[in-house]
Formats: sequence, structure tokens, C-alpha cells
Amino acid sequence: MMIFLQKGRGNRNREGHPWVYRTEIATVEGNPQPGDIVAVYDWRGKFLGRGYYNPASMITVRLLTSSRQEPIDADFFRERVRQAWSLREKLLAGEPESDSCRVIFGEADFLPGFIADKFADVLVVQSLTLGIDRWQEIIVDELIHLVKPRAVYARNDQEVRQLEGLPLYSRFLFGEANSPVVIRENGFPFLVDFAFGQKTGHFLDQRQNRAALKPFASGARVLDCFCHTGGFSIHAALYGAKEVTAVDISPQALAVARENARLNGVEERLHLVEANAFDFLREQDKKGEKYDLVILDPPAFTKSRSTVAAAARGYKEINLRAMRILKRGGYLVTCSCSYHMTEPEFLAVVEDAARDAKRRLQLIELRRQSQDHPVLIGYPESHYLKCLIFRVL
Ligand code: SAH
Repeated sequence: MMIFLQKGRGNRNREGHPWVYRTEIATVEGNPQPGDIVAVYDWRGKFLGRGYYNPASMITVRLLTSSRQEPIDADFFRERVRQAWSLREKLLAGEPESDSCRVIFGEADFLPGFIADKFADVLVVQSLTLGIDRWQEIIVDELIHLVKPRAVYARNDQEVRQLEGLPLYSRFLFGEANSPVVIRENGFPFLVDFAFGQKTGHFLDQRQNRAALKPFASGARVLDCFCHTGGFSIHAALYGAKEVTAVDISPQALAVARENARLNGVEERLHLVEANAFDFLREQDKKGEKYDLVILDPPAFTKSRSTVAAAARGYKEINLRAMRILKRGGYLVTCSCSYHMTEPEFLAVVEDAARDAKRRLQLIELRRQSQDHPVLIGYPESHYLKCLIFRVL
């Protein structure tokens, strides 16, 4: 079964990008069924790679290999899982104070559409595309063999599955464990509600960025906007913050944050606020409140290139407010997890906010997602998280 691209298409795929969009396809030969493996060629008939096909998806083919012959079978997927795990084994060994990490990061681990997060001895998996869903059992079997978890839980309740024509469900695929489970992150215990929390329950991609707060937290008055289950807030408190205010719109996330504060013995210094962070920041500014450290970690404001301008206004607004309520010489930790807002664009938005706020910025660190979420060169979508640390003067 063969797919031929339109004239001028396919250069990205030659550089290792695994996606073929529906709009790039000229002809489909051999009547492939959803989930089948197809060979992809450019308009001149030059071979680009093989991958799985789903005509229901805008991303109609996700390439699995650039080889013509390599069989795409159970062994193929088992080997990919082994490759992914061998990196995480090293990372975990080098970071004994953490017992949790992302084990499979989809496309960036050459397993497009598949996510696996290790939370202590529980694995949480998601198969987000029809093509990979067919192989879920094999992938999970290999993960069980390598990672030896107590339980594997599928969080296949994400709406993207519907677009792929897949059913939504959450259940144990292996063993059982109570949710929440307690993990260790940077030496501290955290609860992860893998059954009901957002995505897989805990944002592992910020693990090393949370640890990066250490030099800036001591004695500080801290504001953590979009705090979710309190990851940044509780790190700040444990690193010596005098007082931390943590804001989120989700009462469920705040309930877990409260438990996490108790678990870490910092509940006296942590004030949890259920609010829209945009409103909260505006009010703090009006009241003339001042902070030593402000953390901004909003959800992705844009999921497509066409809404980047609107997203930029959102990012500018919160960064501007944050700068206005920071004391002179205070620190700003500002994040964006929208892939479409690139690092240079995000920097430009923050600079623009500083101009309006009439503040000067010293860039202390340019950070990104933790190492267990590798950036695959040739697949820029895998560099999605930006975490910038500034001193604001
Ligand atoms: N900083 C967190 C992760 C943030 S995820 C961590 O380290 O774990 C983004 C969070 O923003 C989610 O918890 C979501 O509930 C919250 N959120 C979304 N829109 C919001 C808004 N307008 N105001 C406040 N919180 C919001």
C-alpha cells in the first residue's frame, strides 16, 4: 500500500519529521485500512518511509521507520520501548531523589502517539492514535517486563482519541493500585491522582524546573499562578520561602495541592486561592501587593499557528502584571507550553511586557522540559515547553 505526496512535499519527512498531513497527499494506492502500514513516496516516487495510516485524522500518516524492509511487528515495538527505557534508566540513576519520569514521549521516542509516565511503581499510559492503539498490548507488555511496575493504568479518556475514531476509557491494564499514589520528586513526596487528575495526573515535564527555584526561594514572598497540584509552590516553600500564594481555577487540583502541602509540612506557609489567574493578578496589581518571586505556568493558550497572536496577548497580559507586582530585583519564572509559541517569540512577548511595565530584565536561565522529554531534532513539536528565569529590575 502506497501513498504519494503532492509536488514539493516531503522535505520535512526526509529530515526526520514523522507526520504526513492529509492536505499533503496526492494519491493513495492499494486501499489501506485505518491502522495499516503504508509506504510513503514523494511526487517523484522517492521513498520517504513507512508508517501507520488513518484517513480520519488530519495527520493521516505517522512514520515509524525510514527503512523499506524493516518488519513492523511486535519485535519492532518492543525494541522501541527498550530504547526509550534505556535513556530513562540512566536519568533515574543520575537523579536518585526522583522516582518518577516520562518513559515514552511519543514521536520523540519513535513511538508516535504513545505516552507512558512512571509514577513511583505505577505506570500510566495513553495511546492517542488508532495506529498505535493496535500495538498497545505489546508496548505495555514490554514496559511491564522492563519497568516492573505494580500496576499499569490506561488514561485513554483524552478527547483526541475521538478524532481518531477510538473509544474513550480509563482502566487498569495490569495489576491494581490506589489513586493517588505518592511519588518522590527532587527528594519530596507528592500525590499523583493518576485516575482522575489532568492528563496523566502530574506534569513531569516541569520536574527539573521546579528544582531550579532553589536559589530564588529562600525568604521570598512567592506567587505561583496556575499552580495545579502545587508542584512549584511546595518546592518554593521547601526551599525556604516565607510565604507562598498559589492560584488555580480548578478546585480538584487545589484539593490535591492542599494534601501535598500537608504531606510536606508546609501548609502553614501555603495559601491556596481558587481564582482565574488573570483576575487575581489584576487585583494584586490594583492593591499594590508586592512579591519577591512570581511563577507563571499557564496551560497552552494556543493549539494552532492561527491563534498565536491572541495567545501572545494572553502571555503578555500575565507577564506584564507579574512584572508590576514584583519588587525591584525580584525573580520571574515564566513558562509557555504552547509549541506554536516558539522560544524566540515567547522571549519577544516577555520583552514587550517589560517595555510596557517599564522594567529591565536580566535573563538568568533559558530552560525547557525535563530531560525525560527529549527534543527530537527534525521534529520541532517536541520542544514545546519554555521556562525562562529573569531578574526583574
Ligand atoms: N504549574 C503546574 C502545572 C500547571 S498546568 C505544575 O507545576 O504542576 C495549568 C494549570 O492552569 C491547570 O492546573 C489548570 O487548572 C489551570 N488553569 C487553567 N486556566 C486557568 C486560569 N484562567 N486561571 C487559573 N488557573 C487556570
